[in-house]
Amino acid sequence: MEQVDVVIIGSGYGGAITAARLAAGGKKVVVLERGVRKGTADLKQSDSLKYIESVIDVVVSTNPAVPVSFRTGKLVGGASIPMDGAHYRVPRTSFERSKEANGRPYWPEIYSREYLNSYYDKAEPMLGIRQFEWNEIAKTGGLFAKMLHAYDANATCERARLNYTDCIGCGFCAQGCIYDKKVTLLHHYIPLAEQHGAEFRTEAEVDHLEPPKNSATGVYTVFYKRNGAPQQISGTRVIVACGGVYSAPLLLRSKTYLPNLSGHVGENFNNNGEHDFIGILPPEFDDLNSYDCFKGSDNAALMSFNWFESDGFTLHPGGGLEASVLATKLSAVNHPVLPPRAWGMDYKRFAETIYPHRIIAFSALGLADGHRAIAINPDGTPKFDNRDRTAYDKYRNRVNDIVFDMGKKTGVTIVEAVPPEQAGTTSAHLLSACRMADKKENGVVDADCQVFGYENLYVCDASVLPYALGVNPALTISAIAERTAEQILAQG
Ligand SMILES: Cc1cc2nc3c(=O)[nH]c(=O)nc-3n(C[C@H](O)[C@H](O)[C@H](O)COP(=O)(O)OP(=O)(O)OC[C@H]3O[C@@H](n4cnc5c(N)ncnc54)[C@H](O)[C@@H]3O)c2cc1C
Ligand code: SF4
Repeated sequence: MEQVDVVIIGSGYGGAITAARLAAGGKKVVVLERGVRKGTADLKQSDSLKYIESVIDVVVSTNPAVPVSFRTGKLVGGASIPMDGAHYRVPRTSFERSKEANGRPYWPEIYSREYLNSYYDKAEPMLGIRQFEWNEIAKTGGLFAKMLHAYDANATCERARLNYTDCIGCGFCAQGCIYDKKVTLLHHYIPLAEQHGAEFRTEAEVDHLEPPKNSATGVYTVFYKRNGAPQQISGTRVIVACGGVYSAPLLLRSKTYLPNLSGHVGENFNNNGEHDFIGILPPEFDDLNSYDCFKGSDNAALMSFNWFESDGFTLHPGGGLEASVLATKLSAVNHPVLPPRAWGMDYKRFAETIYPHRIIAFSALGLADGHRAIAINPDGTPKFDNRDRTAYDKYRNRVNDIVFDMGKKTGVTIVEAVPPEQAGTTSAHLLSACRMADKKENGVVDADCQVFGYENLYVCDASVLPYALGVNPALTISAIAERTAEQILAQG
């Protein structure tokens, strides 16, 4: 059987970054990626669902009692290809405030903002991250800031940190950038891995893995299918990096062979407190002659930490309006602003006069508990279950109180982008289903991302983040991947 030093499963932030550093450190690495490789020339500016589903895995629930719609990666480079570019270091407050009701911190003791800074320093140049200039902020960002200012003259927001170069603001970031203005994993990390001999094996979907049969062989065996044909590969070390939705199911499919796995696998699933709003601005806000909501990158390049210390959430505006915004409920009978129906002449007038000039989309991210778990269906695919949402609803209500109060005092009509009962069921920030902890009683992997009870088996991706961050997660996943590779290389 083929044998290498490290088999990595998945090629997003967790997989590609560990692959690059371990290969550069002299390890023989094979990355198994279920998706294909798409370069800039293969991308399109298309809103067709068929095209979007060729670059993003849209995960919908098979359980009608748990409606979810999550977005995750499915190409070489994972979700770095369609992502919206925001890369933040986790604020100190997130580490200090992320605690269970009994006071136990979610993060292992070793972690703090200061401790992670050296790993952020390594990842940022590789991902081309920079703070946008004021003249690069999308027009929707300007209106978002104006709304904050009208509410509270002391409210703050700052220029975002993005991995875009000289972006032209076409607004098709989630489809993949056809102008090559977004620095993805295909730009630096994956070429570094390949220069040092790592192989990215495409259309290789892993079913499960088995631990060493005896201490003499000492290797894990990974079972995967390529073009429908069953294959096996073994590695002294295995890193599971399938992303926030798929790593826990892979471990659960392997549970017969890994009986000592922590009971936390699949639990604590967290959508980073993402809660989305639409704001319809009053006519007096529309004083920018050239204003057009469709101009700008998907992320409007602003972030407000105004309520982070007091209430544990950030707010950030979207830029060029995504098609998904159109699908939200922009009609309501007897509403002072919205048309009565989402079709017909009233809706046409609304779309002509208000839609391109006075609508913004914005989202909260925050220190919220999760209220979902991931299990598996009999065929091994992910199955979502509900968990207690009391704490999540408390968080959501607090965010709503502030945002709706802002709407009331500024004349901005606020619409929740999903109905209240479905809050927390849509996101691209899919965290914590294999969370890290100091002890097996509290998590799935230790502070080094090694699976409790299984030496040389790691999970390294969004699912190890122990709790919501309140900011976008990709840079922190990158920092943790840098650290994981460093720890493995230090062991030899
Ligand atoms: C549209 C969109 C916009 C986003 N915008 C932002 C943003 O602005 N800022 C931010 O910080 N984050 C953003 N995110 C989230 C961010 O991209 C993810 O948090 C990040 O990519 C997670 O990295 P990962 O390594 O955990 O997983 P992924 O990047 O999802 O990579 C996992 C890889 O594993 C592969 N895989 C899964 N199962 C298997 C299997 N069984 N066998 C083999 N391969 C497998 C998948 O195909 C995928 O390529 C966005 C995501 C999306 C989809
Ligand atoms: S808005 Fe900028 S980063 Fe996004 S697709 Fe267009 S050019 Fe690329």
